[in-house]
Amino acid sequence: MTDSFITFSLFIFLSFLLSGQVRSDRLDGRLPKSVVPLSYILRIRPDFYSNDTNNFKYNGTVNILMECRFPTDQIVLNYDDEDGLILSDFRLVDTDGVDLLHNVTIDNDAEFLIVNPSRSLAVGENFWLTVRLNGGIFDDRFGFFYAGYEEKDLGQRYMVSTFFVPKIARAVFPCFDEPSFKSRFKLIIERKSEYSSLTSTRRVRTAPMTNDFVADEFDWSPIMPLYSLCWAVVDFAYVESFTTDGVRVRVYARRDRIDEANLALQMATRTLEYFGDKLDYNYTLSKLDNLAIPKEIGYAMEHWGLVTYAESSLLYNSEKNILREKIRTAKLVMHELAHQWFGNLITCEWWNHTWINEGITEFMQFVPLKSLLGLDHSEMQILDDLQRIQVSDALNTSQEVIPDIPTVWDSSKAFSRITYNKGGAIVRMLRSDLGENEFWKRIQTALKIFQYKSVTTDQLWDVLLPEENGDTLNERKRKWNTWMEQINYPLIRVTLDAKSGASVQQFHYLDPKDQIISKPSPHNYIWSVPITIITADDMSNTTVRWLVNETAHLPEVNGKEWFLLNSQQVGFYRVDYDSTLRSKISDILKSDFSQIPYENRALLLDDAFTLARNGYYTEDVAMEFSRHMSQERERTVWETFFKGSQQIERLLGSLNETSNLIRNYLVHLIDPTYQDLGFDERDEEGLSIKLLRFEIIKRACNFNIGNCRNKAEELFQRWTELGDKPKPDMVYTVACQGALTSTDNGWDAIYEKGKSEERNNRLAILRSLSCKDDKSSLGRGAKYAILSTMASFIVDQQELIELREFLENEDELNNPSATSAIDIGEINLSWLDKNKEPLKRWLEEI
Ligand SMILES: [Zn+2]
Repeated sequence: MTDSFITFSLFIFLSFLLSGQVRSDRLDGRLPKSVVPLSYILRIRPDFYSNDTNNFKYNGTVNILMECRFPTDQIVLNYDDEDGLILSDFRLVDTDGVDLLHNVTIDNDAEFLIVNPSRSLAVGENFWLTVRLNGGIFDDRFGFFYAGYEEKDLGQRYMVSTFFVPKIARAVFPCFDEPSFKSRFKLIIERKSEYSSLTSTRRVRTAPMTNDFVADEFDWSPIMPLYSLCWAVVDFAYVESFTTDGVRVRVYARRDRIDEANLALQMATRTLEYFGDKLDYNYTLSKLDNLAIPKEIGYAMEHWGLVTYAESSLLYNSEKNILREKIRTAKLVMHELAHQWFGNLITCEWWNHTWINEGITEFMQFVPLKSLLGLDHSEMQILDDLQRIQVSDALNTSQEVIPDIPTVWDSSKAFSRITYNKGGAIVRMLRSDLGENEFWKRIQTALKIFQYKSVTTDQLWDVLLPEENGDTLNERKRKWNTWMEQINYPLIRVTLDAKSGASVQQFHYLDPKDQIISKPSPHNYIWSVPITIITADDMSNTTVRWLVNETAHLPEVNGKEWFLLNSQQVGFYRVDYDSTLRSKISDILKSDFSQIPYENRALLLDDAFTLARNGYYTEDVAMEFSRHMSQERERTVWETFFKGSQQIERLLGSLNETSNLIRNYLVHLIDPTYQDLGFDERDEEGLSIKLLRFEIIKRACNFNIGNCRNKAEELFQRWTELGDKPKPDMVYTVACQGALTSTDNGWDAIYEKGKSEERNNRLAILRSLSCKDDKSSLGRGAKYAILSTMASFIVDQQELIELREFLENEDELNNPSATSAIDIGEINLSWLDKNKEPLKRWLEEI
């Protein structure tokens, strides 16, 4: 195959002028399928070696081998001249080298390049189109872009790279820019000899050129979606390791930060091995490069064989980064590497099916965490994805997992968090419904059937959804599509009746309640809900019944002492128990909470706090599910509690009549947990416990529990006297302690120093300002930063009036942050109106 490179490099290009512009009749911007690409040969020569960034540019050629699938008189591909890409020297020949070009027209509206051949094309014929390229390289995050950075010994440096998803490649070279046109790619990159060039595949040869330039020729890529193509030219260092199958894994970063690349390297190597086993399908290429781009690009991209990341999210330094950032790096690598199978090997047919790339991958990224970092899949997916997306998916402005993407220009809609997080949650729900073994078996089958192809949801369902309990395949598809084709999700209300037993009823859940739904749904906002039930004698999470209509009886739970719905929080719905059931559940939590899986202990709190906030009942009902927590050691449950109760803590804590009550209750929960976990980290314990400890310590020191403040004080002294900085996760707690006790100017020194610190430490030190009672040192610039914090503490009408007067005096009533502060104040007052008395009574009685 490499021979064709030589043939084409010897082309003498004929010049053609673009013969005019036409208007499109294709308003959706979709390409016809009469001519499809088979392969591309791209020769690219970037020029970014001066410091004149305005003149960074590239030239090159693209040769596309195409096949005619339906008789046609036109070849239509994508081209966007908005960034100034100039095309010239068009040539169209058949496989015998016979010239076929009549002329070329451009349709700017449709972003089409229309190549008109001198005769009609017949089915099965192959042709080569060759075009010369001249374009710019920009200070951007997309397209062909550059990043500038400082290197200690070398000064100002630049690197260049590309990003094409969903439709940017057309501004860099003319191409078939849709995910279903999969092709093979060969690159020839001309570069200065001191730099390296990278793309999907390995370099096969390097030929010398004039002026200290060389041309790297790369191997053919696998058949892949065009957006998965990437190239880069860098002067970076790398670290390297090999998988057990001999795949070469590298992380490239600028020299000054290459020693922070080891975590990513280890995670990437082991994740490739992990997925190879789990998916029964080894990674397809012989190398995988991970490139740390020194720029806040705000994405990582799974380009096959050359994954690109923002440097700040790929590199990890235990001296500077908090523990969550270690997990973030690992999870990000796992996400991008899962894409090598879901996205690269099998690809969504069109952008409305993007969940096949992103939803499945979002689920997959949590799978290796247990074996690689000791973190539980459920814990991570519930906290990082599920709880958050259920908040945004309760809005009437939400989007479907399979959204309508009628035109090319709607394609960026496909990349909403719903596609990722809800898509991932639905895959988790599917795994629970199929059972672990069946799920992985079907995923493996799907990979083998659809490898190197593009698929629709319907085609994927054919493989993933077996007939079951008399349900046909179509019925199964319809059930699962109720989750994919309509926005929002159901609330399941469970009631217990002495005569008829337990029953469930589904409602379309919206939060806040009073939103109007104007968007029609093909499923009329009825979901097919896989109901899973836990009882004292059955903890399995298999579906016991499908709630396909609005109501159903639950004979399964007759005679059971207690039961819970939504085992391990795998279902994408909320549950509202009636008061009889709630008190039974609360009794079980108090007497023996370990009977209930931790995911469900968290779920009870998350649902109850959410429903209370949405006006279903008052907050004391939610707090009732926290009474066992002095014994609770699961991070998922604690994080859910902290999130759910923060408003209660803040507002009741600000009122004289309730501040002691709420404080005493929280101390009652946190004290035993703090005593048990201790202040100091232990080497042998898992990441989850370490993360929990940081959260508990923050509050233990705040409430002055046990020896917490003494311990923090010791660390503060070491910091100021010996320059021994605390662990990144402890900076806030320790700086806060310093703010409280430091009598000399030790804290001020840390504050001054903090300004030049890494982002995390800087923010932690700045946040510790609020630990200081005396806020007089805050300048006007900080006023608005703390305005919303101040407003969040407003608990009576008088304070709201004072805030309003203060803003009036400052002539700031039209300032948006000022008015939103007043809104926050008003929300607080209405919250207190509803919840203060019930909570006060509850706190007094327990
Ligand atoms: Zn992704």
